Amino acid sequence: MRKPIIAGNWKLHKTISEARELVQQLQESVADVSDCEIIVAPVFTALASLASTVAGSKIQLAAQNCHPATSGAFTGEVSAALLKDAGCSYVIVGHSERRQLFGETDDFINAKVKAVLAAGMQVIFCVGETLEERDSGAMFDVLARQVREGLRGLDNDAMRHVIIAYEPVWAIGTGQVASVDQAQDAHVFIRGLLAGFFDKCVEEQTRILYGGSVKPDNVDGLMAQGDIDGALVGGASLKAEDFIRIVRFTRQ
Ligand code: PEP
Repeated sequence: MRKPIIAGNWKLHKTISEARELVQQLQESVADVSDCEIIVAPVFTALASLASTVAGSKIQLAAQNCHPATSGAFTGEVSAALLKDAGCSYVIVGHSERRQLFGETDDFINAKVKAVLAAGMQVIFCVGETLEERDSGAMFDVLARQVREGLRGLDNDAMRHVIIAYEPVWAIGTGQVASVDQAQDAHVFIRGLLAGFFDKCVEEQTRILYGGSVKPDNVDGLMAQGDIDGALVGGASLKAEDFIRIVRFTRQ
């Protein structure tokens, strides 16, 4: 019922020609994959060029961030509508690196979520606790706050265009993947939160991705969990061979 998604977050890596080369390698190898959405999120400058490269293929484009305003005096920012114009179908919002390094608040993230939806794209909305929050027992409160505030004001219909990514901060870029039980427990908790805010169908239909050191050797175990609907992949999405293996996770 929930079609899996494998999304690669390329972060601040790859020139336009490197990005095109990687996408071409991916395209050839995933041409037969139809039971999974495949997304890559390159840097802003590569988006428009990659849009023509991926046209008609199985690969779709995401941006890694956007500004909530539609236009105006926001030097250095990019609006959701401009990202759609560049060929994006998805925007990642609320990544922990944005929250931690750029001070993004739940309110600001909520405004971005709404801007992406207003522009007619899907949002990949990231949440996740730090190690300190997990160790101190605050994890579930943190996740509840992030989900409640980040999705504030959305209705059931809007939620059809929202994908949630659970990304424990301590697992991002560290090689320390959450255990399948830790990941599944967090996903069940997040799905339960949706039940409190929206109709039952939102709880059942919203896809929740896991992110944090997903690699070819751990993806199968994660994807075997009932509430893990895909992966948001950082480091391993930069190597064609690894990302292809992740897209080809073992179906149950
Ligand atoms: C990410 O950047 O969203 C991520 C999950 O990174 P990594 O896979 O490298 O941990």
